Amino acid sequence: MDTQVGIVGAGPAGLLLGHLLARAGIDAVVLEARSRDYVEQRVRAGVLEQGTVDVLTETGVGERLHREGMVHHGLELRFGGVGHRIALSELADGRAITVYGQQEVVKDLIAARLDAGLPIVFESEATTVDVERGVIRFGDDELRCEVIAGCDGFHGVSRAAVPEDALDVYEREYPFAWLGILARAAPSSEELIYTHHDRGFALHSMRSPEITRLYLQVPPDERIEAWPDERIWEELQTRMATADGGFALNEGEIFEKGITPMRSFVAEPMRHGRLFLAGDAAHIVPATGAKGLNLAVADVRVLARGLRDLFERGDEARLDAYSERCLRRVWRVQHFSWWMTQMLHRMTGDPFEAKLQRSQLEYVVRSEAAAKTLAENYVGLELEDV
Ligand SMILES: Cc1cc2nc3c(=O)[nH]c(=O)nc-3n(C[C@H](O)[C@H](O)[C@H](O)COP(=O)(O)OP(=O)(O)OC[C@H]3O[C@@H](n4cnc5c(N)ncnc54)[C@H](O)[C@@H]3O)c2cc1C
Repeated sequence: MDTQVGIVGAGPAGLLLGHLLARAGIDAVVLEARSRDYVEQRVRAGVLEQGTVDVLTETGVGERLHREGMVHHGLELRFGGVGHRIALSELADGRAITVYGQQEVVKDLIAARLDAGLPIVFESEATTVDVERGVIRFGDDELRCEVIAGCDGFHGVSRAAVPEDALDVYEREYPFAWLGILARAAPSSEELIYTHHDRGFALHSMRSPEITRLYLQVPPDERIEAWPDERIWEELQTRMATADGGFALNEGEIFEKGITPMRSFVAEPMRHGRLFLAGDAAHIVPATGAKGLNLAVADVRVLARGLRDLFERGDEARLDAYSERCLRRVWRVQHFSWWMTQMLHRMTGDPFEAKLQRSQLEYVVRSEAAAKTLAENYVGLELEDV
């Protein structure tokens, strides 16, 4: 098989890149290790920045998102048993977030691509990426491409194809993970609740008026078997309780459970020859800022624009600037995600650190300037013109 752009991975990054390239008349093949069913059911992120919603809308894949997504204009920070609303939209020039599951974005992008008769080769794991020759091997086949887009997530093969001495890696592992569940229970609040508690962080989110998404901070090496449903509910009830007893957390059948490590990671540069890394293949953020999916969208938007110049006019200037442009946003988002994480979790247990955390939280809810900083980063800084 030959194509202009070989895309490894049908996550949000690979699928959106394929979609943007198709609109520009650029030929691409998407290779995906897993089945269509698997990637469409994989539960991960669910908070879309304003800019992500705009990109999906402007490129014709926002119809169901606007019908089913839940637009939020604020969120709650809860600590010391008291909730404080951060009025995101008021503080961030009317911008908002939309709660819509990542797997729904993935379903919409897969449907758009397959409806247009364009290829996604499922159950085809790329085994090697030959950057020099522009060849991706999968099974007994190979895909020859002018450009390779490594959109295969953190554990993919693309980043590993870059020689070690050509890549700088910056990394931080956090001393905790998130246990996430989906439950058949109506959300207990209309907005997300980020809770800081002496026993650890908890987050109340949702996927629909009938489905709640909840998270608990747990030790990094925690096993899911250690958390039967009753223990999860008990811990959530404890961490999320308000001092006035007025908060009632709705419970329901838990039908999805998983543990996600918390990590910050950046590999620079995001280009090596004809290989371009995008999304989690190049960087990971701890989920507290709800940014991983949004950052993947920002990357591929810049990449698609550069590839258009290359294939339409043979102009590589934008592609040459790809890594630098993306990394500016990546590091801003890294900082925000780290900042939210260290402000909201139980860190080392050091009492001095706990006092600083509490002071930071009080400042954010009391100072409009501090709340604005949180709000404008949370709804997402404006995407740059490309
Ligand atoms: C387990 C997990 C839970 C998460 N939970 C949250 C959350 O709760 N909130 C939040 O904000 N963010 C969360 N994130 C982050 C967010 O989901 C990611 O940032 C987002 O998925 C990035 O999209 P991507 O397309 O870059 O990578 P991915 O979504 O990882 O997509 C990569 C794709 O490449 C495929 N692939 C991998 N290797 C190969 C190969 N060799 N050949 C072919 N295909 C390959 C994979 O199967 C996958 O479909 C989570 C991430 C993970 C991994």
